[in-house]
Amino acid sequence: MGFRDTRNFNLAMLGKQGWRLLMFPDSLCARVLKGRYYNDSSFLTTTRKKHASHTWRAILAGREVLTQGLIRRIGNGETTLIWRDRWLPNHFSGQPLTPSEGQLVSRVGELLSENGQWDEALIRQIFFPVDAEAILRTPVRPNHEDLWAWEPEKFSMYSVKSAYRLLDTRRINESNLQAESVSENTDWNKLWKLKVPPKVKVFWWRVINEFLPTRQILHKKHIEPIANCDLCGADSESIRHVLMECSVAKSFWEYMKSTTGAKLPMLHPDSWAYDLISCKGVAKQDQAVFLIGMYALWMQRNRRKHGEPSRPIKFAVQWAVDMAFDLQQAGSAPLSVKPQGTPLWQKPEAGWLKCNTDGAFYDR
Ligand SMILES: [Zn+2]
Repeated sequence: MGFRDTRNFNLAMLGKQGWRLLMFPDSLCARVLKGRYYNDSSFLTTTRKKHASHTWRAILAGREVLTQGLIRRIGNGETTLIWRDRWLPNHFSGQPLTPSEGQLVSRVGELLSENGQWDEALIRQIFFPVDAEAILRTPVRPNHEDLWAWEPEKFSMYSVKSAYRLLDTRRINESNLQAESVSENTDWNKLWKLKVPPKVKVFWWRVINEFLPTRQILHKKHIEPIANCDLCGADSESIRHVLMECSVAKSFWEYMKSTTGAKLPMLHPDSWAYDLISCKGVAKQDQAVFLIGMYALWMQRNRRKHGEPSRPIKFAVQWAVDMAFDLQQAGSAPLSVKPQGTPLWQKPEAGWLKCNTDGAFYDR
């Protein structure tokens, strides 16, 4: 194969040095470097020290590619962190999609039962079904320690060729995304600053990274046999399909337009997820209601998938509009749409106490 990109080729070569440090921690070279640069931490987590040698700086640069392809192979699960390490083969970023907040487990070993195999009941209780399936099909080797492996290669050993290919794929993906000439960091900043609930921001982060279990994405990962939408029969249930193109989504946005006047514009097929957060082709005052509306559509879809009764579309629209309106009231973002049929807060009659609470629904 040809190595067209010299920088990536160099990184792939340097990755090999880092890989050796991980595989042979007792080698003379590894012991010297550890003594000098990461005595109190590990190769993968250490930060660059001042006055580091040229060689060490180069090895750290190669770590960039290592962290993308390294994965933990599970033995007793004692040294693998559920929410931080990559440990789920062929599964999104190699980590669970289930949010880690409020979870009591931290090490993979806590998900194993006494015989060293997966504790299925516990796993199904903690994780989203798509994560649970990925965990349960991950092999474990009881009575062994967890090890580092190189995921892109069949025999788990690092190769410059596969590392280069990994970097090359990423370069192509990135240049596609940067077609809109916005840098990734600017986009993240915009995302975190949006006046939408944190769960909607996290949801959008997943939309952008395609960390959502739609049929099309699961099919691509060989988890689902077919990619089509089970609701409208379309060929491919992509994220865009669920949020904009499916029959439910179309009725949702129709109803939204007829009741609030906010019309979802035609968005670019590749950059739509970025355009919505940077208000490209989208009126600023409608942005929140579109993002929250899409979150509501995603929740509707999950409820349906789990066999729960779905709410009528008008309630889902109302919920999104109310939430956007409440946030606008709380902050100062202008919003063109107004909730309809929802009375504004009124103070209680004399002699009465009024208790205001907030509620949210979750798809499990
Ligand atoms: Zn559909």
